[in-house]
Amino acid sequence: MASILIAEDEARISRFIEKGLRAAGFATQVTGNGSEALALAQTDEFDLLLLDVNLPGMDGFAVLEALRGTGSRLPIIILTARVEVQDTVAGLEGGADDYLGKPFRFDELLARIRLRMRRDEAGTESTVLQHGPLSLDIRTRQARVGDHAVELSAREFALAEEFIRNAGQVLSREQLLSRVWGYDFDPGSNVADVYVGYLRHKLGSNLIETVRGVGYRLSG
Ligand code: CA
Repeated sequence: MASILIAEDEARISRFIEKGLRAAGFATQVTGNGSEALALAQTDEFDLLLLDVNLPGMDGFAVLEALRGTGSRLPIIILTARVEVQDTVAGLEGGADDYLGKPFRFDELLARIRLRMRRDEAGTESTVLQHGPLSLDIRTRQARVGDHAVELSAREFALAEEFIRNAGQVLSREQLLSRVWGYDFDPGSNVADVYVGYLRHKLGSNLIETVRGVGYRLSG
């Protein structure tokens, strides 16, 4: 199981990331302190580091510089509220592999992580997820039902992926909102229901069951 170190001092955000990554099959560890993040990142126990810029103890750029200074090649994705180009460029020149501006959606973060992981261990993991007649290729973003290719928008694909990775489990509206839309999404929104409707329309009406009062489940 791939293991991800999350260096983020805002508990709301680290909880959101941790919950989502665990559901996606990753092991996780959270630290809210920069110096501790540096120490942990040097243990070889992690496959990727998510690194917030504004951290107590030691800021993210200093952690990055120190890590690269020791020759570490750990994949690093910078998480930053500072969307100014200068900071981003500094981060990438300092040896980060990628960055994500806050607020971000979970599916966006997951896509970046998977991309880094695949670059690291190319070809070791199948990129096709299958459940009954539904298959999703997470690399090419192609969806199929049986022999038929189906066009899905990025958000529809992310929602379908969430269902297929949790096949048989009931997913509540809140879970779907937090995993597919992000932590800043209004919990009262009905957008998840609307998108389940789109998926039923495109993938077949029987594929996603409504579990009354609880949520939705991929059938089968
Ligand atoms: Ca912070």
